[in-house]
This record gives sequence, C-alpha cells and structure tokens, in this order.
Amino acid sequence: MRDFNFKFNTKILFGKNNLEEIIPEIKLVGSRLLLAYGGGSIKSIGLYDEIVALLNKHQIPFEELSGIRPNPGIDSVREGVRLCREHNLDFILAVGGGSVLDCCKAIAAGVHYEGDPWDFMIQKAVVKKAVPLGTILTLAATGSEMNGNAVISNSETLEKRAMGAPILCPVFSLLNPEYTYTVNKWHTAAGITDIISHVLELYFTPEKATQVQDAMSEALINTTVSMSPVVLEQPENYEARAQIMWTSTLALNGLLSFGKLPGDWSTHLIEHEVSAIYDITHGAGLAIVFPAWMTYVLDEQNAWRFAKLARNVWGIIDKDDLSAAHKGIAAMKSFFSSIGMPVSLSEVDIDDSQLETMAEKACRFGSIGLMKKLNKTDIVEILKIAL
Ligand code: NAP
Ligand code: FE
Repeated sequence: MRDFNFKFNTKILFGKNNLEEIIPEIKLVGSRLLLAYGGGSIKSIGLYDEIVALLNKHQIPFEELSGIRPNPGIDSVREGVRLCREHNLDFILAVGGGSVLDCCKAIAAGVHYEGDPWDFMIQKAVVKKAVPLGTILTLAATGSEMNGNAVISNSETLEKRAMGAPILCPVFSLLNPEYTYTVNKWHTAAGITDIISHVLELYFTPEKATQVQDAMSEALINTTVSMSPVVLEQPENYEARAQIMWTSTLALNGLLSFGKLPGDWSTHLIEHEVSAIYDITHGAGLAIVFPAWMTYVLDEQNAWRFAKLARNVWGIIDKDDLSAAHKGIAAMKSFFSSIGMPVSLSEVDIDDSQLETMAEKACRFGSIGLMKKLNKTDIVEILKIAL
C-alpha cells in the first residue's frame, strides 16, 4: 500500500423528497446563484419548476445558464463566467448530468482567472481559486458529482480535454435516483459503460499490493452489471436506479484510487479524441475503445491482472491466465453489446480516415498509459483494432 491522505470534500444528500435540503447547504457559502442546466430535460421532468419555486420561496436571487450540451463546449463556460462576473454571483447550482456539472466546474475556476478558461484545459493555467458549486444529479455516469474533474470540448480546435483540482469538488451533491427515471436506454447504457470504465481505468495498474482496492472495484462492476438489465427494462425501479447512481459516485470519488498508482486512463484519453472529432456519446466511445485497448495491451507479463478481472467479474473458469484474459475481454464486449452499446467504430460510422490525427492528439503531452506506455503508433494500432 502506498502512502496517501484522503478527505471527502463533498457532502452527499442521497434519497427521495430531499430537494429542500439544498437550501441550508447553499446558504452556508452563497447568496446569489448561477442556476445552470442542459437542453431542457430538467424542465420536462418538472425539476426546474421545483427548484425555481424553492429559490423564490427562500428569496435566493439567481441568473440562468441553459443549453449546456453533451460534451460541453468552452463557449458555455465563457458565457457562464461572464454571467457570474456581470451579476456578482457567488454560488453555482449545476443541475443535470456530467456535462452540466463539468461545465460548471470550469466556470467556477474561470471566474477568478483573468485569462481564457480554455487555458486550464491546455495546462497553461492552474486553478487557484474557485466559486463554490453544488449539484443536483439527473444522470448516473461520470462521478463528477463527487470529484474535482471536468472535461470540456472546443469545437474550433476539435479538442476535448480534462482539467481538475480538489477545490472544484462540489460542496454538496443531491442524488435522488427518481430524477434518473427518464434517462433513455441509450444514455442509461452509456452511463453504465462509463461507470465500468472508470473502475477499470483505476483497476489496471501493474502493481499487485492492491487487494482491497481490487475487491471494491470488482464489487462495483458486479453490482453495475447485475443491475443493468433491471434499469434498462424497468426504468422506474427505484432500487436499481439507486444502486447504479451510488455506484457511479463511488467509482470516481477517490475511494478506489488511493494507496496505489492512479490508474491507466489511456482508454479515456483515446476516447476523448474520438468524441472531440465525431461528437459521439462518451460511454459509447468507451465501449468501443476499452476492449480494443485491452486486446492490444495484454501480454504474458500482465495477463494475471486481466485474468483476475475475467474470473472475478465475468465468471471465466480457466486456469491459464492468458486464455482467461482473452475470454474476459470477449465477455466484456458481449456485455456492452447486450446493453445496446456499439463495440466497433464502424457501428457509429467512423472510418479509418482520422486515426493518425486522433492518435497524435491523444499523446500531445507525451506517451500515455500505465500498463503499457503508448505512443502514436500504438494508439493507431488500438484504433485499428476498434474499427
Ligand atoms: P450528459 O452529457 O450530461 O447528458 C446526456 C444526455 O442525457 C443529455 O442530452 C441530457 O439532456 C440527458 N439527460 C440528463 N439527465 C436526464 C434525465 N433525468 N432525463 C432525461 N434525459 C436526461 O451525460 P453524462 O454521461 O452524465 O456526461 C458526459 C460528459 O461527462 C462527457 O463530456 C464526458 O467526457 C464527461 N465525463 C466527466 C467525468 C468527470 O469525472 N468529470 C468523467 C467521465 C466523463 P439535457 O441536456 O436536456 O439535460
Ligand atoms: Fe468517463
């Protein structure tokens, strides 16, 4: 076990009929809000009206930023920064999925930064100060509700890049599984894939002294896999939605990553380049790239870890590590297919014309990965496997 310090920065308000609990949490740190949301799903489920009524009842003034789109753009971040400055707003309430939450984190960082907020994404600036934010989550997937990460896209440069700082962790996140009842099958399945991928990014390290982290990781994937057919067939099954929602949070709140190397993350970095150019759903991109990455990286030396996953998650009974590992990759691929996710680039109409560009951009800051250091040539090969 490696040394670590660990503190949760986010208070979780989990359950039903708890919306009013956000008020004292907001009042602890803020008085004038930016209320930020996406393309309208919070209006169709009635949540927007409830929030507005609540803020009015408690005489909390607010400005709105709407239309934050999936794979959120730097343009929305700039607009949010402008609104916060112009109206002197001191708290951000992000209502939606990971895209809204991520956009709000970048806004929170941008308000106190004199330059362009895109600087955070290209490692030209670090976050020193941020406006506090709280979230109301409506889609289980990213774990953004309890971490300090944000992923922002730039449609001018066709880039999608991550930023992060502990200070960007939400001060609270309200998780009501009922708010996720209306998430359609596609986004539910993409969320499931994102959750599994976060656990796997952290699971894939070359070190062996990770027994407790591995056991927690396998439990989270097993829970997600077993709940998947239930949420897909019965979208209003509270217990299944609750299990998936809490799993999404636990997958990327630090619990699995401390005491060990911080995980591989190649798949996410490669997927970001795919969705930067083709604007595909993040989870769908991961379902395509993860099995391809595993197939490429697997070798005699690291087969033990792939085999451990295959045996403890996919129920593979095979004493030979390499053979078990291959069967595990096949099982994972067929699981993604079973929940309606694509497992090849051709299924989402992506051909081989941009493989070199995506590979080059994925390693723009140097080689990537922990299980195997990957350069541009390696990434092209992975994308070819994914075709
Ligand atoms: P999302 O992009 O936030 O939302 C996807 C779609 O679901 C949107 O069209 C949204 O509509 C809709 N939606 C949300 N809640 C709904 C509800 N309750 N009912 C019906 N529709 C609903 O999806 P996401 O997977 O949560 O976020 C993906 C983004 O997060 C990607 O950019 C990804 O790269 C990033 N990400 C971040 C982290 C992190 O740690 N910060 C980790 C992984 C991925 P509306 O726009 O109308 O709301
Ligand atoms: Fe992700």
